[in-house]
Amino acid sequence: MSDCLFCNIAAGGIPSNKVYEDDQCLAFHDIDPQAPTHFLVIPKTHIPSCGAVTAENSAVVAHIFEVISKVTKELGITDFRVVSNCGAQAGQSVAHLHFHVLAGRDMTWPPG
Ligand code: 5GP
Ligand code: ZN
Repeated sequence: MSDCLFCNIAAGGIPSNKVYEDDQCLAFHDIDPQAPTHFLVIPKTHIPSCGAVTAENSAVVAHIFEVISKVTKELGITDFRVVSNCGAQAGQSVAHLHFHVLAGRDMTWPPG
């Protein structure tokens, strides 16, 4: 989608600080980090949120979790949190599916 920020980042039209990239997904550092390590992993195809995951598009979600496991290992991170906000009330501000990966500090529960 041409008017989607993360589609534009995935296509390279808007620069990002990349952590990992392959044909299906891109991981890049969050512009406003909430932990010492904070990167986002997005599918290259436009999926609006977790609420739009279906049998037809869910393979990329499994792939993203493989990537999170691989990239955190490569970074030497063993303890981390994966978050995906779905909808405005849950804090979603960009309507393109993304998984936050946060690490490097103590995490509280429940989240705010
Ligand atoms: P959400 O609020 O939808 O769960 O997460 C969106 C995230 O995208 C936020 O943490 C925000 O800091 C990040 N973000 C927004 N715009 C940009 C951008 O242009 N570049 C990068 N790298 N991160 C962004
Ligand atoms: Zn998009």
